[in-house]
Amino acid sequence: MMNILERYKPKKNLLICIDSDGCAIDTMDIKHIKCFGPVMIEEWEVSKWENEILERWNEVNLYTLTRGINRFKGLSKALVEINEKYKKIEGLNEFVKWTEETKELSNESLEREIKNNTGDITCIKKALDWSIEVNKRIDSLHKSDKKPFDGVKEGIEKAKGIADIAIVSSANEKAVLEEWEDNGLLESVDIVLTQNIGSKAFCIEKLKEKGYEEVLMVGDALGDYEAAKKNDVLYYPIRVRKENKCWKDFSKEAVEKFKTKSYKGEYQDKLVKMFIENLSKSNS
Ligand SMILES: [Mg+2]
Repeated sequence: MMNILERYKPKKNLLICIDSDGCAIDTMDIKHIKCFGPVMIEEWEVSKWENEILERWNEVNLYTLTRGINRFKGLSKALVEINEKYKKIEGLNEFVKWTEETKELSNESLEREIKNNTGDITCIKKALDWSIEVNKRIDSLHKSDKKPFDGVKEGIEKAKGIADIAIVSSANEKAVLEEWEDNGLLESVDIVLTQNIGSKAFCIEKLKEKGYEEVLMVGDALGDYEAAKKNDVLYYPIRVRKENKCWKDFSKEAVEKFKTKSYKGEYQDKLVKMFIENLSKSNS
């Protein structure tokens, strides 16, 4: 698994890392609006409060600072609210505790918990069923539902002219490769690092160790910004609901600023400020 990183050799002095979901490819909204939220409504039979619950789901998972939160953490947050406001959720404490304490937030880890937990596992079991069904629905989304934002291809081609390009994503490898390939983006990419390699912060760290003069991370969630900050690399935000504009500006300004080493400071600070403000506003 580490081979891909070990074998990798920089071609240029600069590196641009790009996140996939919700950053380059417009998949976040559709996954949450068509899959995660509705399957939760079905699994916990809360259709009576569907509109309010889905609105909150989308707020937490798409439009505020928690955007990009792990699916089980997001589910835990939602169920706690549902339990308080609408309907008692059986076995909720056991599930919440699992999300807080497990070393691995995954279906496999949930399966182990179902076997080992001696308390009420109603909610834990439902969470696994939910997660499996969500994966099925996501798999069945059509290719036309997984298109890049406007300006992504141009942006990446422009970036490719001055830097090596890495995909740094926490989605699964197969999905990322397919989506980038189908949309003619993969040919501009030098290395693809996804969830099987490690966290985004880890991937950036390993790439940085290759000796790049400067690294820029392009992302859409607070976690992307934090991964960049942790590695002391530059950050270019793609703001939710303003993605097309952000990609246009990326081609028009950001690549040039990065190339001429005038990115850090005033320019980046302004972008980061707009990014945080954009995610701090409420959904309305
Ligand atoms: Mg993303």
